[in-house]
Amino acid sequence: MTAGSDQELRSQIVTLLNSGLATDVFPRADTHEDVQEFVNELRAAGNDLKSKLRLAGFTLYPVDHGGIEQLCETCMYYKVHRRYCELPELNVPVEPDWSCRLWRI
Ligand code: SF4
Repeated sequence: MTAGSDQELRSQIVTLLNSGLATDVFPRADTHEDVQEFVNELRAAGNDLKSKLRLAGFTLYPVDHGGIEQLCETCMYYKVHRRYCELPELNVPVEPDWSCRLWRI
């Protein structure tokens, strides 16, 4: 995917979330079982962007959980230079201050 199409997809995500797409921000994936459950749901959603955003609990801002600020920039799946989420079931361009419930250090 090119930088241009990454940016287009980022804009699409911003538009969807700003126009009221509700996402499952909580509960967060605190346990291995939670992670497995959410990842399985994401797999079942395939490549449907709205479903992926909803199931992953996407937000356009960091989420404070258990005293930790969770944001893409500090997540193990975040690829800094491309500003990209490498979790295979998500596989979308993001911004450093976005967040989702699969955040992992
Ligand atoms: S898994 Fe990490 S990098 Fe990917 S969207 Fe969620 S918080 Fe951001």
